[in-house]
Amino acid sequence: MAGSAYKNSYKKILADLVEHNKWFENSIPLIASENVPSPAVKEALLSDFGNRYAEGWPGERVYAGCVYIDKVEVQCMDLAKKLYKAKFADVRPISGVVANLAVYSAFTNPGDVMIAPSIPAGGHISHGKKEHSGTAGLVHGLDIEFYPFDAEEMTIDVDKTKEKVEELKKANRLPKMAMFGGSLFLFPHPVKELSDFLKSYNIHINYDAAHVAGLIAGGQFQDPLREGADTMTMSTHKTLFGPQGGLVLGGEQHGEAIKKATFPGLTSSHHIHHMAAKAIAFAEALEFGKAYAKDVIKNAKALADALSAAGFKVLGEKRGYTKSHQIAVNVLDYSDGGKVEADLEKANIIVNRQLIPGDIKAGRNYFHPGGIRLGVSELTRLGMKTPEMKEIAGFIKNIVIEKKDPKKLAAKVKSFRKDYQKVHYCFDNKLGAYEYVKLR
Ligand SMILES: *Cc1c(COP(=O)(O)O)cnc(C)c1O
Repeated sequence: MAGSAYKNSYKKILADLVEHNKWFENSIPLIASENVPSPAVKEALLSDFGNRYAEGWPGERVYAGCVYIDKVEVQCMDLAKKLYKAKFADVRPISGVVANLAVYSAFTNPGDVMIAPSIPAGGHISHGKKEHSGTAGLVHGLDIEFYPFDAEEMTIDVDKTKEKVEELKKANRLPKMAMFGGSLFLFPHPVKELSDFLKSYNIHINYDAAHVAGLIAGGQFQDPLREGADTMTMSTHKTLFGPQGGLVLGGEQHGEAIKKATFPGLTSSHHIHHMAAKAIAFAEALEFGKAYAKDVIKNAKALADALSAAGFKVLGEKRGYTKSHQIAVNVLDYSDGGKVEADLEKANIIVNRQLIPGDIKAGRNYFHPGGIRLGVSELTRLGMKTPEMKEIAGFIKNIVIEKKDPKKLAAKVKSFRKDYQKVHYCFDNKLGAYEYVKLR
């Protein structure tokens, strides 16, 4: 029958989606950039907003049919401003990378210098150089300089940064923008310590809160906009438990430039169902965010302590391993980050390999870096606490240090997961965290 091959593809794709959900139901998800949203966030993603266009600003759209979209978007902006105590919010950027591109476009020109963290020091590829295909260099033509990094303190070195900026000025390469925030992000960045200095040179300060947006919302990490950051960009789906998306915040004086950069500069459709889902997540974060962020950081510390006690080299030891949702572990005593990632995955423990300070100098690359990175936001959302963190450290030890059979451990992980199938820190949780919704 004509078309039956396509029907098979159709069925296979849907079956893979079902299998994926089942896998996650039985796994320990430790990817630091991921989270599980509430059923209400998922409901918004399924709504008809996802099939509409609403170019422009609420009340000034270039399409009809936006009555309810405008109502939701106005609430979305109000909630975002309240959550982050900001005067201006653009909720339309469709991702963290697009949010960063919006501030690059609004406040710099191609050829300008930006100072940012390097990748082994925690930076994100969207802050990166052209020769690494980093967004800032490749897409906006920025010339990237890296902050001096203190690997023992696991943060940006304040004094050396001042020296570097002054040297750059002497060489006529004074940065136009200073980017804080990153993807390997254990301790707050020294925004307060550097902001007066940077401002004395008229350098625009952006804080990329992609990873830590949920912790900042809960008042448990740092408060960049009060510490001197001009603007703040983020993803809405990492520690902040919204849909995949982006957000830009700033002062009133930044609004016009950001609005123009987002539309028409960087979006046409702004994925309006995601915008609605962001609004719901902001309301949830205002209500539950503080308790959630406290529990996340407590769990991260508990997991770091337990991994260290199990014999692992956990980074940031000097400062108590972590003050965020993340933990970084040097696994070179056992193999490398790539191998450890693959072994753990076979046991249904999902982590990612991670470049750590010293890797590039030692000739290690992204495929076989020295570390792994773990994040506990999703496990915290599922209701796990300190005792569960200890048990998970034991599972990781079983695989990485004791080289136990991953298949056997996968069965143990599955039974360990049985009691954690609902999302916490939200208004309604009738639907299971990974329950598959079949509409056909
Ligand atoms: C994840 C991340 C981004 C990119 O966010 P997307 O929403 O995936 O586009 C940007 N900056 C940092 C620091 C990140 O960790």
